[in-house]
Amino acid sequence: MAISQEVKNFLEVSSWIRKMFEEGANLKKKFGEENVYDFSLGNPNVEPPRRFKEVLRDLISDGKPGLHYYMPNAGIEDARRAIARKVSRDEGIEVPPENVVMTAGAAGGLNVVFKAILNKGEEVITPIPFFVEYKFYVNNFGGNLVLAETGDDFSIDVEEIEKKINEKTKAVLINNPNNPSGVVYEKDDLKDLVELLEEKSKEMGRPIYLISDEPYRKIVYNGAEVAPLLSMYRYSMVVSSFSKELSIPGERIGYIAVSPLMEKEKRDLLMDALIFANRVLGFVNAPALMQRVVAICAEDTADFSLYKRNRDLFIKILSDLNFSFVKPEGAFYIFPKSPIPDDLEFVKEAQKERILIVPGSGFGKKGHFRIAYCVPTEVIERSVPSWERLAKRFGMI
Ligand code: PLP
Repeated sequence: MAISQEVKNFLEVSSWIRKMFEEGANLKKKFGEENVYDFSLGNPNVEPPRRFKEVLRDLISDGKPGLHYYMPNAGIEDARRAIARKVSRDEGIEVPPENVVMTAGAAGGLNVVFKAILNKGEEVITPIPFFVEYKFYVNNFGGNLVLAETGDDFSIDVEEIEKKINEKTKAVLINNPNNPSGVVYEKDDLKDLVELLEEKSKEMGRPIYLISDEPYRKIVYNGAEVAPLLSMYRYSMVVSSFSKELSIPGERIGYIAVSPLMEKEKRDLLMDALIFANRVLGFVNAPALMQRVVAICAEDTADFSLYKRNRDLFIKILSDLNFSFVKPEGAFYIFPKSPIPDDLEFVKEAQKERILIVPGSGFGKKGHFRIAYCVPTEVIERSVPSWERLAKRFGMI
């Protein structure tokens, strides 16, 4: 066979996603881009902050030699120092630059982590719903993603996670705030999870890591706070990026930060493994110019007021139409229940109204659908009659 059997299987399993996007593209061709309401993509649609562009321009026009050279695989010192400062503030604990690896986005960072920690057949547990790509990332290194049920409000259910832990468990992976639900996990639930992992790590005589994927950390609403895991659990790692914070997803810049509470010997070995993985996965190092920019702009953010406006608008529209959903506290997604159990069917019905959304099945949660509201507000406003017709069709109004 011309391609790997495994990739072929993945392509087949996910062919419905492609079909869905093809159908969306067809609708746009047929009715015109502006008459199709596309809420299917999590592509940040706000501009990066002005300072990002100024710093980038200054760096380039400066004419200093060596800007684009190879560098240590962990990243340039200034960038690691800036990330360490930022993470220390977020996490309420001193994280040294030696605990930071610069990566090609959070996606690159997660692959680096799994390469560094997973043996074939080992398991990574994640709560449902989860970011679709996790399955592939874990599988890249011979691991298996194991799914844990959550509460009705998508809160972490520690007992469900406990049920899934066995001698093959290497890590628990959470995404906070969550894509697709927009949920920010409660600190108390995470404390219970940490307690469980402490106990299980002791029992097994080796760490069970807690990996937190946090690219939406700064996009939170109504004072929601993302719990500081690095100061709560010694075997924790945060993986994040500037894709959403600075709204530069195409630039592929992110990082891994490891808890300073980890025993030195274990920590040194893990850092060596992460840095080695960054090299041999072919990233070599995170993009040089972007490292230099975030060394200066690490704590800047894009203007997220559009997301807040869109969130509030969608909450009103969906409530008026009697959709049932958990109010999102972060990221730019809402994950309502579909009025019928078959979410794929519902998504097809929505397409008839020229609304593009993603079925919950793709995120491990049937009977739901994801709306990405990182779109111009007027797209949401213009979509209201379509939502109304859709709701009427299912007897919701
Ligand atoms: N993790 C989650 C939950 C995401 O939603 C995304 C992108 O949408 C990523 C990771 C990858 O982000 P990055 O652009 O930093 O690689």
